[in-house]
Amino acid sequence: MSETLDTIVAALRKANRAVAFTGAGISTDSGIPDFRSPGGVWSRYKPVMYQEFLASHEARARYWAMKKEAFRDFADAQPNVAHRALAKLEQDGKLRGVITQNIDGLHQDAGSRVVLELHGTNREAYCLDCEKRVSAKRVQEHLEAGEDVPKCEACGGWMKPATVSFGQNLPADVLSEAQRLSAESDFYLAIGSSLVVQPAAGLPVFAKSRGAFLVILNRDETPLDGIADAVVRESAGETMERIVAEL
Ligand code: ZN
Repeated sequence: MSETLDTIVAALRKANRAVAFTGAGISTDSGIPDFRSPGGVWSRYKPVMYQEFLASHEARARYWAMKKEAFRDFADAQPNVAHRALAKLEQDGKLRGVITQNIDGLHQDAGSRVVLELHGTNREAYCLDCEKRVSAKRVQEHLEAGEDVPKCEACGGWMKPATVSFGQNLPADVLSEAQRLSAESDFYLAIGSSLVVQPAAGLPVFAKSRGAFLVILNRDETPLDGIADAVVRESAGETMERIVAEL
């Protein structure tokens, strides 16, 4: 383990265009469960497809009921040591940005400035008609007041969480920026992602093919372990703390 860590630290010392790619595993220490884990709010509600959300009031209400409950569960979540380590690497000029599959906003809370949210954000909602964005906190007030589907305060249209739903395309501008950062990176650190679904499975491979040193930090095995330069199967927080301390 410490030999692997030395290799990682040596490569990171030489890097100046590092990029982090993060998934659910970086936020579990902040009390946010992986959405696939049993017992979480996501396992008790049937997923709502984007097309259903557009077409059916019942589906919209069901989706918002889930979001209302999740908001209460995660309103107090705080960034952990791994989020803060990445923010520090960015402030020190090592890291160019974070590409994340997470919707929890904890990277920004930790102080990261360049955060590319592939799956959108839980912190905002937008109007399906006029695209006006408001904070999730504001929308929660509508929900707590008894609205089953919040309406836009500007035009009365239906509000949708600013997360990417099942069946909805990833935001093209975010994706192309993520591809650019990945292509230009010299050190690629994938943290807490099982690296199975696209584009999570593709971006680290792309970065590696363009010459980046690829590190995979995840509790479980991933399909990309075989092409990585270093693999660490430990908790994200502890490992990141050690890397930053030794750098
Ligand atoms: Zn509107």
